[in-house]
Amino acid sequence: MSDVEIPSNFIQNRIDEELKTTKFTVHTRFPPEPNGHLHIGHAKSICLNFGIAAKYSGACNLRFDDTNPSKEETKYVKAIQEDVKWLGFDWEDRMFYASDYFDQLFEFAVQLIKKGKAYVDDLNPEQIREYRGTLSEPGKDSPYRNRTIEENLDLFEKMKAGEFVEGGKVLRAKIDMSSGNLNLRDPILYRILKATHHRTGDKWCIYPMYDFTHGQSDSIEKITHSLCTLEFEDHRPLYDWFLDELDIYHPKQIEFARLNLNYTILSKRKLLQLVEEGHVDDWNDPRMPTLSGMRQRGYPPEAIREFCERIGISKSNGTVDFALLEHCVRENLNLTATRVMAVLRPLKVVLVNYPEDQVEEMDAVNNPENPDAGTRKMPFSRVVYIEQDDFMEDPPKKFFRLAPGREVRLKHAYVIKCEEVVKNEAGEIVELRCTYDPQTRSGSTQDGRKVKGTLHWVSADHAFKAKVRLYNHLFTHENPADEKECPDLKSSLNPESLEIIEEALVEPSLGQAKSGERFQFLRLGYFCADSQSSSDSLVFNRTVTLRDTWAKIVKK
Ligand code: ATP
Ligand code: MG
Repeated sequence: MSDVEIPSNFIQNRIDEELKTTKFTVHTRFPPEPNGHLHIGHAKSICLNFGIAAKYSGACNLRFDDTNPSKEETKYVKAIQEDVKWLGFDWEDRMFYASDYFDQLFEFAVQLIKKGKAYVDDLNPEQIREYRGTLSEPGKDSPYRNRTIEENLDLFEKMKAGEFVEGGKVLRAKIDMSSGNLNLRDPILYRILKATHHRTGDKWCIYPMYDFTHGQSDSIEKITHSLCTLEFEDHRPLYDWFLDELDIYHPKQIEFARLNLNYTILSKRKLLQLVEEGHVDDWNDPRMPTLSGMRQRGYPPEAIREFCERIGISKSNGTVDFALLEHCVRENLNLTATRVMAVLRPLKVVLVNYPEDQVEEMDAVNNPENPDAGTRKMPFSRVVYIEQDDFMEDPPKKFFRLAPGREVRLKHAYVIKCEEVVKNEAGEIVELRCTYDPQTRSGSTQDGRKVKGTLHWVSADHAFKAKVRLYNHLFTHENPADEKECPDLKSSLNPESLEIIEEALVEPSLGQAKSGERFQFLRLGYFCADSQSSSDSLVFNRTVTLRDTWAKIVKK
């Protein structure tokens, strides 16, 4: 798997072209708003911004776009830093906040007022909306549009001093109320918000709008390429207007398509709703499309980077199949995860001809894809557990697992034959009595015996109990993000997105599993030790099943 490098795309082509005629150091930034945890869509933007900077030996800043005091919180700032680092990127000493620029932005606003390019408006939010017009109708000038520069300067200072109520006044750019681009119809630059900001506290009661902050922040940081998603294409003329009127350094904005994934939602607002309404445990619930959730679930960061590389960068919106993400996760884990044995729904098997007190140490290969991973010893004894699903009393034709009178191989051990089925009073199967063939020990000369099924197992005396959580898609609806198809998020939730197995049995080597360590449970899937897992109370999360639907999709 290649590292952070991304394949050539239209953005790189453009930079290559520019570099032919001018010399510059590429400088990008990733600008999250700290109002939630990062999701897989943000990973696309992070890989693009940090990846481009790395490719051209440039630099990428991390900048918190924290202009909205009521929604932003320090805990999100911390979570975002952790996620970017985990994904494998480093902003070095270049971490900034848009709020660092509040003084400068205020000065920029004053500059525009002095040029006659901004005015204080007394219309209320509803009136402003009415006056704005629509796509087919031009807007109307506000009656306050032609205030004098002196009056505007005075009112703006008073706004800053807290003399007006919230919503009582705003500062607007004076551009063009009949522009075909609604963003240019005298957009709001500053509003009054009597809220405490997570960094500036109560210093300000007026806050710059996102649109008045974003482009100038890029300019202040001397960002060469402001990479953003397609929704901002219509905002580019406005950003250009600000930069030109203020006569400051002008980054180049390039838009790309955002990531959409099926069976999930990538909107912090809706993800917050899932958390607040208790449909998931928290932002880092392993069912969430957040980076913190994927980390809990066991997705390796390398697999997420590989996924971002494969989906590439384009100019048109589309939806990516979740199966591609899972494919990247499997591909990575196939090479890296230790193969172990765990039995989720245990069925007792007594090997009647195996000596009572004997314990053999069987050699088990840790990873057939990686000889360097070595082998380990697995204890084998008279009583073992197999999966309930691996036995059928009355099997159909193609069932090659265990059944009365049939033989199977126990992985890394012996061929066994089912001699007797023991049931309880309710008629449920509680035990199988089997014989083993001492000639068939795995790795011995007789090992070549033809047996169709190979089962995983654990030794009863040596296995550890573990809690295992099986995760499925959080939504049953393929496109929960589509508000027309799916107006009610709740009704598209998958009632079976989480199944908890309280008492699975795992092989003894897993007693030492460290939080976050990843394994393949043979025949069951990839699992990772939960962050809360300890040797006293083992907990494993299913990262992904073994079957790869993506490979099938591609074949078709
Ligand atoms: P959300 O709608 O989830 O809140 P956002 O765009 O408001 O997303 P920001 O914190 O502003 O979230 O995003 C930071 C950066 O990540 C922006 O540059 C944004 O364009 C980018 N980004 C957000 N979502 C996606 C996505 N789905 N695909 C690609 N880039 C994204
Ligand atoms: Mg945003």
